[in-house]
Amino acid sequence: MKDFILWFEDQVKKTIEEYALVSRDDKILVACSGGKDSMTVLYLLKKFGYRVEGLIIDLLIGEWSQANLDNAQRFCDEQGIKLHVVSVRDVLGGSMCYIRSKIGAEKKLTTCAVCGVIKRWLLNKKSRELGADKVATGHNLDDQVETLMMNLLKNNIKLNAGQQPVTGVVKDDKFVPRIKPLFFCLNKEVRKYSELKKFPVLYDNCPCASGVFRKEIREELTNLEEKFPDFKENMVRNFLKILSGVKNEGGAIAYCEKCDEVSRKKLCKFCDLMSVLEREKFK
Ligand code: SF4
Repeated sequence: MKDFILWFEDQVKKTIEEYALVSRDDKILVACSGGKDSMTVLYLLKKFGYRVEGLIIDLLIGEWSQANLDNAQRFCDEQGIKLHVVSVRDVLGGSMCYIRSKIGAEKKLTTCAVCGVIKRWLLNKKSRELGADKVATGHNLDDQVETLMMNLLKNNIKLNAGQQPVTGVVKDDKFVPRIKPLFFCLNKEVRKYSELKKFPVLYDNCPCASGVFRKEIREELTNLEEKFPDFKENMVRNFLKILSGVKNEGGAIAYCEKCDEVSRKKLCKFCDLMSVLEREKFK
C-alpha cells in the first residue's frame, strides 16, 4: 500500500516536472467536480507545496451535485484549501437539466456536450477573474486516450491538438492555461490512490452522463490494454511526438462578438447556446 502511494505520487511529480506544468509562483485553481480525479489533483498540488485553490461549478444535478459539493467543501475545509463555488443557476438562471432541456433538442446536443461547453466557458472566465495563472483539471490517461480515439474516428484530428499535459494551442491573455497533472495515470490507479487515501468522494457516475460513443470506445480500449499492457500510455506518448504537425493547423484566435471571450468564430460556442436559451425562455 505504502509502495503504491509513493509510486503514484512520484508519477504525478514526474509529469509536473517533465512538462513544466507549474512554477512555484503560480496561483493554481483546481477545477473540482467533487470526484476522485480532481480531489487527487487538489490534494497532491497542495502536498507538493504549490499555491492552490479550488473552484467547483454547481450544476444542480439533484442529489449527485449536492453530495459532490458537500464532499468538496468538507475536503477543502479539512485540507485548509479555499473553495470557490459557482452555481449555474446564479449565472444562467437554472439547473443543467433545465438548460439542456431548453437548448439540447434544437442544437441536437447531448447533455454532456452542452454541459462541457458551459463548464469550459465558466471555468476560464472565473479563473481569470480570480487571478489564476493555471487551471488544473483531473483528466487522466483513460480520458486522454478516449478523446484522442474519438477525435480520430470522427475525423476531427485538429481537436487533438489540445490533448496535452498543458494546453498549447491557444495562447492569449484571456485564456488561462490548463494543466493535467494526472495525464499519465490510469483511471484505476487514481481510483486506488483515492480509496487508499480515503478521500470523501462519490464513485458513482453522473446521472446525466450521455456519451454512448465514449462508453463504447472506453470498452474497446480497455480490451486492448488487457491484451497489450501499456497500450494507452504508448498511444498518448506517440501522439505527443507527432503533435507539432497537428498544432500548426490550429488557426487564428479571435474574440466572441457577444461575450468577448476567446473564440475561433464570431460567436463562441457558449454564446451560441445561450442565444437558444434566451429565445426558449420567452416562448
Ligand atoms: Fe456534465 Fe456529462 Fe460530466 Fe454529467 S457526465 S457533469 S452532464 S459533462
